[in-house]
Amino acid sequence: MALLRHTNQPAVERQALTINPAKTCQPVGALYAALGVHNCLPHSHGSQGCCSYHRSVLTRHYKEPVMAATSSFTEGSSVFGGQSNLLAAIENIFTLYAPDIIAVHTTCLSETIGDDIPQIAAKAQNEGKIPAGKFVIHANTPSYVGSHVTGFANMTKSLVSYFAEKGPAKLRTVNVVPGWVEPADMREIKRIAALMGVEIILFPDTSDVLDAPQIGKHEFYPRGGVTVQALRKTGSSQATIALGPTASGSAALELEKKCEVEATMLELPIGLRATDAFIDALRRIAGVEVPQALKDERGRLMDVITDMHQYFYGKRVALWGDPDQLVSLAGFLADVDMQPVYTVTGTPGRAFEERLTRVLAGRVPGVRMRQGAQADMFLLHQWIKEQAVDLLVGNTYGKYIARDENIPLVRHGFPILDRVGHAYFPSVGYLGGIRMLEKILQALQDKQDRDCPEEAVELVM
Ligand code: SF4
Repeated sequence: MALLRHTNQPAVERQALTINPAKTCQPVGALYAALGVHNCLPHSHGSQGCCSYHRSVLTRHYKEPVMAATSSFTEGSSVFGGQSNLLAAIENIFTLYAPDIIAVHTTCLSETIGDDIPQIAAKAQNEGKIPAGKFVIHANTPSYVGSHVTGFANMTKSLVSYFAEKGPAKLRTVNVVPGWVEPADMREIKRIAALMGVEIILFPDTSDVLDAPQIGKHEFYPRGGVTVQALRKTGSSQATIALGPTASGSAALELEKKCEVEATMLELPIGLRATDAFIDALRRIAGVEVPQALKDERGRLMDVITDMHQYFYGKRVALWGDPDQLVSLAGFLADVDMQPVYTVTGTPGRAFEERLTRVLAGRVPGVRMRQGAQADMFLLHQWIKEQAVDLLVGNTYGKYIARDENIPLVRHGFPILDRVGHAYFPSVGYLGGIRMLEKILQALQDKQDRDCPEEAVELVM
């Protein structure tokens, strides 16, 4: 196993080369967002190879069969455009698979050709290929810019552009855009809102889609996902809470622009402070009290932090992945006196370094952060070789660094390809915070037990 033994020092500034990117491609995110809509079939407008990759990376992470259709570009469509393929696909999909919505996302190839999806969808409508009451929506997701997170953001914004309607009167509902989080996180956000007595419209919502219960028979469209009716109502809600500006900000701003629904931008509710901010925003917008049950959960997280703090103090951590996850995670780690010294993300946009600097508030000496094409796993490994860390937190792609440097790895974020079960446990909210800390401490102490000399093995640590 010498995969990364060639990683050299020192880190040289690169202009035009990415080695092991800390991101994946836009359509993956658009597909994930579309799966969070009830009775929706995602459709990849490009070659079969793109669609296979996007489906397989999601299937490997969620361990669920992820469905999507494709325009199946051949040489002809690559030269003349994919209109006829998409028209045939729309007709076939509605005839054979009967979704309520086809959510088309583009790919590098169809973007380079310049296919105009709204024009093709209008032609399909005029030719009677879209049955009454059914929809074809789209998001542009060229993968030579952005990442899976911007793809998610683009499709989520499209849900607003296509469906949100400003009704005659305000409803009691509060919109929550959850960002790219696990289905269990989405369920946890709904549980917290229900405990507070706040009626939310969560979109997209992949709970009960990518963690649907096994019921002994195949359901092509699982029962989860936000409905078209609920998406329409988002335009009449009291306000929108965008959790994670990179993944959720554009949908919230679109709702503000289109339907005058006020947007509140928050960081993902991972950790004590970020969860406090989310619960306080719900309380303020809906005019409710925070129930004792939630106060008790907060108190339990505080207790766990107190018990574990001695082990966390001063531990150096390297993080990689999606900006919204990284900002909240880094803030949480700094709050328990760890030192998130290195952070990289391949996803561009939305003042990442500024946000990170704000949550760290000068508490981490020697911090290094990088965003963009050259903010890759190779650079992170070089930094670690220059000065080691005690812990790695990120997706599966960090396992090679973990092995080469013998550093414990806590798997978090997307994708996790080599473990099972992560989609079933939230990391948001107070309960999610307890779980994150337990995972981190276990990784640190397992290493200590494994690597310490025999005479230093302790029964009680
Ligand atoms: S990067 Fe472009 S060509 Fe490659 S899988 Fe993604 S959309 Fe397809």
